[in-house]
Amino acid sequence: MLLTRLAQVSREVAATSARSRKIALLAELFRDADADDAPIVIPYLAGRLPQGRIGVGWKVLGRPVEPAAGPTLTVREVDARLTELGKVTGPGSQAERARLVGELMGLSTEDEQRFLLGLLTGEVRQGALDALAVEGLAQATGAASADVRRAVMLAGSLQEVARALLGEGPPTLERFRLTVGRPVLPMLAHSASSVAEAVEKLGACAVEEKLDGIRVQVHREGDDVRLYTRTLDDITDRLPELTSAALELRGERFILDGEVIAFDDRGRPRSFQETAGRVGSRVDVTTAAEAVPVSPVFFDALSVEGRDLLDLPFAERHAELARLVPEPMRVRRALVNGPEDVAVAEEFLAGTLERGHEGVVIKALDAAYSAGRRGASWLKVKPVHTLDLIVLAVERGHGRRTGKLSNLHLGARTADGGFAMLGKTFKGMTDAMLDWQTEYFQGLAVEDDGWVVTVRPELVVEIAYDGLQRSTRYPAGVALRFARVVRYREDKRPEDADTVESLFAAHPEVRT
Ligand code: AMP
Repeated sequence: MLLTRLAQVSREVAATSARSRKIALLAELFRDADADDAPIVIPYLAGRLPQGRIGVGWKVLGRPVEPAAGPTLTVREVDARLTELGKVTGPGSQAERARLVGELMGLSTEDEQRFLLGLLTGEVRQGALDALAVEGLAQATGAASADVRRAVMLAGSLQEVARALLGEGPPTLERFRLTVGRPVLPMLAHSASSVAEAVEKLGACAVEEKLDGIRVQVHREGDDVRLYTRTLDDITDRLPELTSAALELRGERFILDGEVIAFDDRGRPRSFQETAGRVGSRVDVTTAAEAVPVSPVFFDALSVEGRDLLDLPFAERHAELARLVPEPMRVRRALVNGPEDVAVAEEFLAGTLERGHEGVVIKALDAAYSAGRRGASWLKVKPVHTLDLIVLAVERGHGRRTGKLSNLHLGARTADGGFAMLGKTFKGMTDAMLDWQTEYFQGLAVEDDGWVVTVRPELVVEIAYDGLQRSTRYPAGVALRFARVVRYREDKRPEDADTVESLFAAHPEVRT
């Protein structure tokens, strides 16, 4: 497929507000796409690079280049060139990347250049596109959209499903079953501002400890155990003690969902940094495991002995979990019948905080597992309110922070796929964080006016705040009060960040 076609459809999709028209435009595009175009076309439409971060900042984008007279570039050629570019490292790499970008731009028409610039700077991000693409694919191929959605959930990848569907047609969807060894995107939680609010919304529910560790999906098939993160990275080699724990369980074939966390001698959680450092380190695993041993704590069962449990109510999935996993390896919980029992939930939260954990996750007992989505049936409640926001820009520091990139501009996602700034903060950062972000943001920079460095909007940061106040300065009409950085969440995608809508839902007091 030619890039010019994609650029044109991308523009048309952005320009129309009617959902059905957007879907029709995408369906038309997919009808003309080859199976091998799909893994490129879909992320491009959403404004993502399939390669992830390839180190194209403003320094690399440099000066404008004379456009080509006519369109010749295919999306696959562009993708190959960008893959090449992402591989350039070492001394002189910036100049080499700039040369490669220049070459690509020289082959592009003016319209294509505009599209590529938007893509490379992260400006054409269209948050809702994946959901539209599912509908478009269904329309283009005659598959039922519910079947496409479920296949995407189980494959953990829209691109993979699109490729199969465009290549082989609807019968291929049968292939995407829940399978041991093939990770699925984990179910995510919404926030609630109090236990009472959560219990009121959910009715009969389980109140579980919220452990501040790293999400892990454990797959076992006989003696073979595989471990995956929430972004589906395989981390089996890093955590041998989890493999041993999984092999001790009674089942032979299962997929379990849980958290990996480091406890101290007294059974209290060690700091998140220690757990994250352990999970992140690939070298010298034996020494790392001695210094910071970690344990799995499971809270859900997705598949047991070949039986797919995803559509079962949580109460039944948990019964399967309890059959397989003995108590200390299962998350501590309390059962609540409904709002009349809210005191039980409050008491459990108080006990959880005393034990050193960050809060609770409250889960409806009748809800299915909605993989990859923030189902409304899991609600997290923490005493300190935090938000996952996107860094939009960062200001150069002064005084003690001269030479550093310090003050963050924070944004929440908006319904149209963009971001609305909610405030700034330079608080809560350790010196190590400051050094890390200074270096990191240089690689993400797309513009620099000497004071504010605008970055590709893709890094998620967890921010604690004391509340919201009305503001005429910021586009959503509200600003954060006393925002401070808790930590960077490289494990989250920009699509996982909080939305302006969810912020208003959590703070009805500021709604006008
Ligand atoms: P957050 O990352 O703040 O959105 O909170 C959701 C995360 O909490 C999940 O992705 C898990 O990694 C973690 N978590 C800890 N304990 C639980 C639990 N009992 N149930 C579900 N998620 C949990």
